[in-house]
Amino acid sequence: MSKHLFAIFGNPVSHSKSPLMHNLAFRGLKIDACYTRYLLENGGKLKDKFFELGLKGINITVPHKEYAYQACDELDPFAQKVGAVNTIVERDGKLYGYNTDAPGFLKAISEFNGAKKVLFLGAGGTAQSTSMILKEAGYDVTILNRSEGRLVRYQEAGFETYTFENFKIQEYDLVINMTSAGLEDDSLPCPKEFLDEVIPSAKACIDIIYGKDTPFLKLAKAHNKPTKDGADMLLYQGVIAFEYFTDNAYKFHEIIPYMKRAFIL
Ligand code: NDP
Repeated sequence: MSKHLFAIFGNPVSHSKSPLMHNLAFRGLKIDACYTRYLLENGGKLKDKFFELGLKGINITVPHKEYAYQACDELDPFAQKVGAVNTIVERDGKLYGYNTDAPGFLKAISEFNGAKKVLFLGAGGTAQSTSMILKEAGYDVTILNRSEGRLVRYQEAGFETYTFENFKIQEYDLVINMTSAGLEDDSLPCPKEFLDEVIPSAKACIDIIYGKDTPFLKLAKAHNKPTKDGADMLLYQGVIAFEYFTDNAYKFHEIIPYMKRAFIL
């Protein structure tokens, strides 16, 4: 592979771990490539910027995943289905789009053997792709969201959905925070009384926010439940993106030891 340039496009993008993850893997595997970050303010300019910067591939983060979907010439069937792309690779002047968030998340929760019934707190973009892949993998996913608007597309896709106004308490194996509640504030993703009802019967509680003991995870620990944050999801989506970037020249187990170092630096 000759020298290739890669980047993450987002706004904001300064906090992203992706440059460190990918550069560690490029260096460890002795690939002559470089990965940087690019603050993209206007998502409509994504394709122009990609070619202007002479890139081979990009990851896309908030708020541009739908623009990324529109910018692609070819879409992987799963990315097509969920309408969100977080990885683009250029081949012969065409842009190929993939979604690696969802398979990354699926792998991250695979350690909870036997878990089937899942409660998603939140109905945003990440919840959409991950709920779809969980459904395809045989999980039974219920969605609880603060407001009604985003639930329509889940109802159309056959999910059981609730708002805070009509939530019916049931037992769930996994309770998962898919919202940004707790990222930059001290809020819980839903009223505490709901969590005090559903957490005790859960096998584990998961937050897709990473690198932070969120109020949700703190509450789960107070209930003596196993917890997991979003670091593995981030790591696995990155490894899967790297496989696309390198046209599958390297296997998952070869990439992961190098990328993992980004989480201890
Ligand atoms: P979106 O903006 O698409 O969706 C946000 C969701 O959170 C909505 O359902 C919204 O509800 C809900 N929400 C936001 N704030 C609150 C609150 N205070 N209380 C209750 N509900 C709230 O976000 P994304 O799906 O893109 O991202 C969600 C989270 O996932 C972010 O924290 C992001 O950092 C994280 N993430 C982690 C990844 C990883 O690799 N670990 C990868 C991608 C994302 P409403 O509809 O009512 O507005």
